[in-house]
Amino acid sequence: MAALFCQCDTNYYRSASDRPSASCTRPPSAPVNALSSVNGTSVNMEWSPPSSTGGRSDIRYNVICRKCAWESSQCEACGNRIRFNPKQMGLTEPAISVINLLAHTNYTLKVEAVNGVSDLSLEPRQFISLNVTTNQAAPSQILVIKQENTSQNSVTLMWHEPDQPNGIILEYEIKYFEKVRARTSAGCGRFSQTVEIETGKSVSLRYDTTTIIWICFALVTGLIVLLAMFICKKRRCGYSKAFQDPDEEKMYYQNGHLRFPDPKIYVDPHTYEDPSQAVREFAREIEASRIKIEKVIGSGEFGEVCYGRLKLPAKREIPVALKTLKSGYTEKQRRDFLSEASIMGQFDHPNIIRLEGVVTRSKPVMIVTDYMENGSLDSFLRRHDGQFTVIQLVGMLRGIAAGMKYLSDLGYIHRDLAARNILVNSNLVCKVSDFGLSRILEDDPDAAYTTTGGKIPIRWTAPEAIAYRKFSSASDVWSYGVVMWEVTSYGERPYWNMTNRDVIKSVEEGYRLPAPMGCPAALHQLMLDCWQKDRNERPKFIQIVSVLDKLIRNPTTLKIIDTTSRLNSPFLNRNIPNFTSFASVDEWLDVIKMGRYKDNFAAAGYLSLGLVMRMNIE
Ligand code: AMP
Repeated sequence: MAALFCQCDTNYYRSASDRPSASCTRPPSAPVNALSSVNGTSVNMEWSPPSSTGGRSDIRYNVICRKCAWESSQCEACGNRIRFNPKQMGLTEPAISVINLLAHTNYTLKVEAVNGVSDLSLEPRQFISLNVTTNQAAPSQILVIKQENTSQNSVTLMWHEPDQPNGIILEYEIKYFEKVRARTSAGCGRFSQTVEIETGKSVSLRYDTTTIIWICFALVTGLIVLLAMFICKKRRCGYSKAFQDPDEEKMYYQNGHLRFPDPKIYVDPHTYEDPSQAVREFAREIEASRIKIEKVIGSGEFGEVCYGRLKLPAKREIPVALKTLKSGYTEKQRRDFLSEASIMGQFDHPNIIRLEGVVTRSKPVMIVTDYMENGSLDSFLRRHDGQFTVIQLVGMLRGIAAGMKYLSDLGYIHRDLAARNILVNSNLVCKVSDFGLSRILEDDPDAAYTTTGGKIPIRWTAPEAIAYRKFSSASDVWSYGVVMWEVTSYGERPYWNMTNRDVIKSVEEGYRLPAPMGCPAALHQLMLDCWQKDRNERPKFIQIVSVLDKLIRNPTTLKIIDTTSRLNSPFLNRNIPNFTSFASVDEWLDVIKMGRYKDNFAAAGYLSLGLVMRMNIE
């Protein structure tokens, strides 16, 4: 008699809900092509379905998170603080966001595919795993501030460490205002009378009539000045740190009262009659005894750049970069050198190099900034040619764009945005740097003199800025497009060995840099948008950040590679040499300075010049 159903072979199963006559199936293989992008302390991960579904269509995914110690393979469960979006187990879509991770921590994320018979199988489970390192995140908010003691001229405040410090707390910053003053283009007015504010009920104030009248007068004066500043802000004159006395701290007088706006407009230190006043206003003086210089890491326009350690008041030390002013400087050199500090000191953004302070009262005169372990972006990329995922590269570009958006919002025009002026830290965070006033003239080896006067880094500069010195945030956007090209080509020199004159002429005639090898089409399109001749047609930095964010969120869009633009680019066509003069593909690639792509050409089967020519025609 024929059997009603067949026994399954070893390692093949039917689930409890399968009909007895259903085919035998097996667990799926591991998912493939996992990609992750780290955003602060969150990770977005995507993957493709397994190559073998085991003959079933009920595939689900489970994600396992492990926290791993640095430099060891010891891992532990991630704990229940973290969140998985949409969920950790039984995912139907091949994507997940893991949030609330610790800052600067290594995690291993494993994804397994399961189906209706996975639980029946005794075979080891198959995972795809990704190691990620989270970036820095600011500490969480300090929730409770307690007022301990108050007297007429002092107050003691206490608070708890934030719930999520996300790193070693370097310092606490308290902001308060004592006085206000107004400023116009003619300079700053005098400070208002002091406004006394009662800081605690425990203080019993007994004033005579004169004092009360005086306090009322001071309050009214203060309010008028504040009102004037408020109106001024509405008219977009903005508010800047420049209006503050360096000894004062800022207070955001909250709890339903006044709140001063954040700094909004960049103040050019040139507008100060005495530039050292700008330094005093924007840069904190650091005692030389708090600094330990450890080694030289580079050389700048004014002297050596060193690595060192800065002792903070809480006895902690942080690594810093120290830009020094070489001895024998002139007064002008000292002013120009310190101008960078008075510019940098106005900025406060994770993608802008941060000023710790200056040393001006002893020698060597120094500018102290955060230390960026990986140095400048161009050489960093050249050292790591081809070693990053597209998502990592886009992450770097996103950071640079966010920094530039911040600068353009403040009204600061960089004028020398290039990979050599971006610094990279150990977490691949990119920060815009190089803010000295004289830097383009003196410092930049890529700058060339133009007929309109001044020295300009031609390859990075928008045509209108070269032609008639029309520098704007839109010309910074053009330079940003060139930085995108530098990043996606791993530090290739824009326009290779063309002369500056040829670059100007080609760009003027409408030629644009082609997509670097393997560059996603979406990124090259964004570059072309940044290189619109009409500067009003170029995207704003806010739009660039948003486009890059979308690409990071949908990594599949980055898989479309631009294969045509390089080959069809009129720019390159002009430079495609006569193939008959070369003996081999390798020789041709060497001549056009693309020798590093030899392996790629060979791997893609372009072994003869004939095949290359056909590829070009196709
Ligand atoms: P600069 O004078 O700013 O062009 O600096 C000269 C070189 O010093 C740079 O190309 C970097 O290699 C190095 N450098 C400058 N600032 C830093 C920093 N904050 N951290 C690490 N390296 C730096």
